Amino acid sequence: MWIDTHTHLFSEEFDADRKDVVARALSAGVQHLVLPNIDVDSVPRLRQMLADFPGVCLGAMGLHPCSVDGEWRVNLGKIEQELRAGSYVAVGEIGLDFYWDTTWRNEQIEAFCYQLRLCSSLGLPALIHARNATDEALEILESLEFRHVRSVLHAFSGTLEQLARAMALPEVYIGIGGVCTFKNGLAPEILRQLELSRTVLETDSPYLTPVPHRGKRNESAYIPIIARRLAEVRAEPLEFVETMTTQAAGRLFGQSW
Ligand SMILES: [Zn+2]
Repeated sequence: MWIDTHTHLFSEEFDADRKDVVARALSAGVQHLVLPNIDVDSVPRLRQMLADFPGVCLGAMGLHPCSVDGEWRVNLGKIEQELRAGSYVAVGEIGLDFYWDTTWRNEQIEAFCYQLRLCSSLGLPALIHARNATDEALEILESLEFRHVRSVLHAFSGTLEQLARAMALPEVYIGIGGVCTFKNGLAPEILRQLELSRTVLETDSPYLTPVPHRGKRNESAYIPIIARRLAEVRAEPLEFVETMTTQAAGRLFGQSW
């Protein structure tokens, strides 16, 4: 049994064949799909998918850093309302993205910290997106206020030093996806240093498609491809990677996987 801990199957890229995509995931053994929200507009799509696939899909509610702009307070207010009303398993995706645009840098930091406080008060883990901002995100997580928030650094792209900093925090998990199959992707050294008890697998569909499907739309059925690469580099049996990462996902989301 596999878990896709980060997949945006509610997005319009899957409007034509969403049912088939979920069926393919299930027949590949990917039994649960965690869907992280993006912005206010994606909420109805995400809710629809949770209703259509009960027991398979679990939702995370949050405001993505790339959606933080001059309207962020109003938008985050709506998202917080949804988070408190629904039965979500995490706050996400949240974080910092200084790759595309730094116009709203300070607002991104404010929105991130606000949502981490929601994690503390609701007892939910955080799904963290940190792009060109791993040091900044770690610094926030290392602060006294947030060092006990359970979280995952999704699509981890940091250095060995950053991995060590993350592992020094007791509740931080690492999300590994298709980038580990790219020629110039995540270094094998990083894959070898991962603590599997705090490593979870994710596709980030429709993005970051693993080799040999790179260039095409990603989907949750590709989780075992990512796991195979991990098993190969670490010289561990695939079944071991499966058990460890599924149990880690269970601890991260408070589920009995
Ligand atoms: Zn994402």
